Amino acid sequence: MPPRFHSKLPDAGTTIFTIMSSLAAKHDAVNLGQGFPDFVMNEELVDLVTAAMKNNYNQYTHMAGYPPLRDILSEKIKLLYEASVDPETQITITPGGTYAIFTALTTILQPGDEVIIFEPAYDCYLPTVQMNGAIPVLIELQFPDYSINWQQVRSIISAKTRMIILNSPHNPTGAVLTEDDISRLIELVEGTDIIIVSDEVYEHIIFDSKKHLSMLRYPELLSRSFVCFSFGKTYHCTGWKMGYCVSSPELMSEFKKIHQFNAFSVNTPMQVALAHYLKKPEHYLTLNNFLQEKRDFFSECMDNTKFKALPSYGSYFQLYDYSKISNEPDFEFAQRLTREFGVATIPVSAFYQSKKDHKVLRFCFAKKEETLKKAVEKLKRL
Ligand code: GLN
Repeated sequence: MPPRFHSKLPDAGTTIFTIMSSLAAKHDAVNLGQGFPDFVMNEELVDLVTAAMKNNYNQYTHMAGYPPLRDILSEKIKLLYEASVDPETQITITPGGTYAIFTALTTILQPGDEVIIFEPAYDCYLPTVQMNGAIPVLIELQFPDYSINWQQVRSIISAKTRMIILNSPHNPTGAVLTEDDISRLIELVEGTDIIIVSDEVYEHIIFDSKKHLSMLRYPELLSRSFVCFSFGKTYHCTGWKMGYCVSSPELMSEFKKIHQFNAFSVNTPMQVALAHYLKKPEHYLTLNNFLQEKRDFFSECMDNTKFKALPSYGSYFQLYDYSKISNEPDFEFAQRLTREFGVATIPVSAFYQSKKDHKVLRFCFAKKEETLKKAVEKLKRL
């Protein structure tokens, strides 16, 4: 008899990204589903990793991260967000953005705490809340611009509200927070003990001259926030699984207690390489234009299909409405598109607990032009 146990996540299946990537591989489809670039990363950064390994940076580094990397991140935060962040006490390097989010939630949540999550929501938020015995409180973003209804948020906040999870630029919709959102947020949390976990892994992918409104810009928000970032999204190396978290010294000190008994420390040679690479701000400042061109190229090609674009202001995703083509449920349509037309996407209902279906699919445009063209040629047949 196998031993009996209680599942911590009885309702969780395989993530939609894995499902669609496997289906894409099976049918040899162009994969615009799971978010990862198909072009090569910068060779200089690869060479820096090789050099770090050859120079024997191969042992554990500091628990909070290689100190020169934290120093350069603090400089970058000053340059971009005009915030003074102490690299000693306010930054921890993590094995990926998702790990930073997991650790932030685990640092704070106690059983019974309520956590506000906006849907459509990136897949890890809800299970991480549940794993900690806390209660997800779901609020839908307003279709079709996916804005936050702050009045609704205010009416849902109670003494049990422990945390709000924010994500801008937003996955899967490409929506971004506005100045008005920030003022409403500041007003809402003032005088409360609410903690903010802000997923900003697409901080450098924001378009049309919009400004990324990081929690780091606002001292009254930074003092109650865990702000989570990703190197993978910025430097085209999602497989490296490298990220970092920034917070107040008090919150970060608790975060480190959890981190030190989990990953403890992160891949040293890659941190050494990044510490050199980040000395040149153009390495991250050019990303907006690079991906904006991809968004525009893809959307011009898609104009020749029956798909209708919803605006994307950031991230490397864009939603497309397919209601002129079919009224099938989005998951079925996405599977058929992969099987019969050779293009994989992500059905947006997967980002809702209720599986809400607005007949939109998420496309990842962080791909070579030839890949995007090839996908659109196939989609034209619909
Ligand atoms: N962040 C990626 C996306 O949104 C997925 C990563 C994963 O597969 N867990 O597509």
